Amino acid sequence: MAKFEVLAKCHTTRARVSRLTLSHGITPLPTFMPVATQAAIKGLTAQQMESLGVTLILNNTYHLNLRPGVQILGEAGGAHKFQGWHKNLLTDSGGFQLVSLSKFTKITEQGALFESPFTGEPTMLTPEESMSIQHAIGGDIIMQLDDVVSSMTPDRARVEEAMERSVRWLDRCITYHNNSGKQTTQNLFAIVQGGLDSELRDRCLTQMIERKNDVAGFAIGGLSGGEEKDVFWRIVKQCAERLPDDRPRYCMGIGFAEDLLVCVALGVDMADCVFPTRTARFGVALTHRGPVNLRLAKYAYDFEPIDPDCPCPTCSAGTSRAMLYHVITRETAAAHAVTMHNIVFQARVMGGARDAILNGTFPDYLRTFFANYFADFGYPQWCVNALRSVGVDLLEGDSKIKVNKGTGAKWE
Ligand SMILES: [Zn+2]
Repeated sequence: MAKFEVLAKCHTTRARVSRLTLSHGITPLPTFMPVATQAAIKGLTAQQMESLGVTLILNNTYHLNLRPGVQILGEAGGAHKFQGWHKNLLTDSGGFQLVSLSKFTKITEQGALFESPFTGEPTMLTPEESMSIQHAIGGDIIMQLDDVVSSMTPDRARVEEAMERSVRWLDRCITYHNNSGKQTTQNLFAIVQGGLDSELRDRCLTQMIERKNDVAGFAIGGLSGGEEKDVFWRIVKQCAERLPDDRPRYCMGIGFAEDLLVCVALGVDMADCVFPTRTARFGVALTHRGPVNLRLAKYAYDFEPIDPDCPCPTCSAGTSRAMLYHVITRETAAAHAVTMHNIVFQARVMGGARDAILNGTFPDYLRTFFANYFADFGYPQWCVNALRSVGVDLLEGDSKIKVNKGTGAKWE
């Protein structure tokens, strides 16, 4: 079973530093988990990921189940051995990809019915089947199958049904998992649903917290689907406030630096997103002064590295922005170089947060980070609102930076 120890709490916000010990080592939290859709991160090997200091990655169950498939993974001795990854691994339930990628998915009480991409035959993913597949993959953290609906769904009855069904499916996952013999090495997380409705979220929280002794952690699901950011952070705050102190809290599907730091301030410990690695392949490098779009002609003669202070292999070798500009969309080596940089950037954002919480300087860290990151663009209003709600005012004192009504994405 996972060991979770809270090491320090911020005196102002709800941020905390903790240590999560799993079968493949220690992962310090808060942390960002890079997403390796199919075994290795696109463009990087498992060894490169490990050399960057990453201790927890996410594999997509849906993709691994299609290719190479559970049988081959089982014979290989699980996904760790299959991909040569020696650190911690989290697998999702497969449900989200099923709903978003598969045509004709139909949710019934039994499970998610979909058309097999191989045979065209109707195939059912049940909570028990999701557990069984995740047991074969062998992730250190496995996720319950939940009934996923878009956060933009106007149909409250459907959101309520999905929330209640997610609780029932959690019970089926718990029963299957606790009888599998796998619960000593693999740890089940519950996923809080309820859409953007605080009353439904509360009901889900109450029911899932009652099952606390059977789960190692809690995820906040059903967000990052295009909802208003001011609604997003209020739901995250509500969930993080009620979830038990002695379990990790994982906010699914977030990866922008401002989202990560706001969620950490609200009490979130873990996050994942394809964004930093996907955007790297499109030529966008993440920096403390905001994202840098290396496809822009102004970088053709820029012989500086992406970020001279960055310790990643790309920047420390001195790879120039000009080189990256010239080859970014043509050479896989360039995508690879920017991917490594972006993974290290995410790790630095979260590592910096951990250090600041331990040192009692997290509010200053937030103010400095946001001031640098949004110096030219202005603070997103929702970030100002969210951080104010936990006692940090970005506009306090010498604030030359204006407030921007946008969502925060800044592409230079
Ligand atoms: Zn770098």
